[in-house]
Amino acid sequence: MIFDVIIVGLGASGSSALYHVARSGAKVLGIDQFVPPHHFGSTHSESRIYRKAYFEGTQYLPLLNRAYSLWSSLENESSTTLMYPVGCLTIGPSDSSFIKQAQTCAKEANINYLLLSPNEAQKRYPAYQLPDNYKALLDIDAGYIQPEICVQTYLRYASIHGAKCLFGNTVTSCVASGNQVKIITDSQTLVSNKVILTAGAWIRDFVSIPMEIERVTNSWFQPNGPNCTPSNCPPFIFCDDQGNHSYGCPDLGAGFKVGLHHKGPTVSHPDNLDRITTLYDVDPVHRVLANLIPEAAGKYLKTSVCMYSNLPDHLYLIDYLEGNNPNIIVGSACSGHGFKASSAVGESLASLALEHPPPVDLSSFSWKWNNG
Ligand SMILES: Cc1cc2nc3c(=O)[nH]c(=O)nc-3n(C[C@H](O)[C@H](O)[C@H](O)COP(=O)(O)OP(=O)(O)OC[C@H]3O[C@@H](n4cnc5c(N)ncnc54)[C@H](O)[C@@H]3O)c2cc1C
Repeated sequence: MIFDVIIVGLGASGSSALYHVARSGAKVLGIDQFVPPHHFGSTHSESRIYRKAYFEGTQYLPLLNRAYSLWSSLENESSTTLMYPVGCLTIGPSDSSFIKQAQTCAKEANINYLLLSPNEAQKRYPAYQLPDNYKALLDIDAGYIQPEICVQTYLRYASIHGAKCLFGNTVTSCVASGNQVKIITDSQTLVSNKVILTAGAWIRDFVSIPMEIERVTNSWFQPNGPNCTPSNCPPFIFCDDQGNHSYGCPDLGAGFKVGLHHKGPTVSHPDNLDRITTLYDVDPVHRVLANLIPEAAGKYLKTSVCMYSNLPDHLYLIDYLEGNNPNIIVGSACSGHGFKASSAVGESLASLALEHPPPVDLSSFSWKWNNG
């Protein structure tokens, strides 16, 4: 059988692409080396923050707008709650570019937001204790989303729309062959007209791309009081005086989750990721939490290990391979901030594979390197 589209990797981006290709009626197969959702890649650990007051830049807004509406369509189709709009606080030194950029983006996105002083933030959310001379930008419609449930829902509805899946199959090679692409797995050879590569941190097994893999961890702590639930303590992104970023998500039942953003060591290959955690993973995030939300920084509960796939510019990648091979499409290294947009990233990848006009402008996310 020749497939219209094969998707390699069914995490955040691939499960969404599978769903969108399947909805078009095309013959599509998704392959994953594990059984997604799983905790070996970049899409696990119970929560991801979504927000539009995006200090990372306004170029993401069209994709983010589209992503919100696609998550909401999936919620309607599946009768499943995916997004929890409890708000998100972007916290930084009052005069920092971090806060200014988030505010510029909030204005351009035309979202509901408030700029809060430390006292105002604490009045609204008693557990937060912002340092003096800091501000919090409250993105009112932001919140958290549960990655495992999203992947599960996309895979389930992709299959309802006719997609086939192979789990526990590792793709060992992807080669263009005439007008088609040959996919070799550890058990069979398959042929497709188009291939979408959404292999996350493993994507360098297929394409030469200047991407770095970063080991990152999240740790959970038992709150000491009643003020750390999603309704009275929204997620945060924090930038300190030195420009170090961290983030946290309220207690969803397993404790208050906190992580450092872009502070981890580089990993040579995802199969070599050090999954053993130590005090070096836990102490720095405990300090962040104890200073910012002391009530959340109780007993240590657990740590999980994850990976960021970072491009040099920390942008997403959504394009044909080398920007011009029409049969192989490469999806999103995501650089540690891609989950919220993955509904729209998957749809855009599907549109490239199906040769439909992309639903949003993808020019910021194009291929920029020589595939040497
Ligand atoms: C700790 C952490 C916190 C984060 N927080 C946020 C956040 O708050 N908000 C946000 O928007 N983003 C966040 N992100 C980023 C976001 O989660 C990722 O950008 C996104 O999940 C990446 O998805 P992906 O589909 O690219 O990769 P993955 O989900 O890892 O999927 C890749 C898949 O490809 C499969 N695969 C690889 N190679 C092969 C092969 N050879 N054969 C078959 N299958 C293969 C893998 O098994 C895997 O299932 C965070 C990331 C981490 C790690």
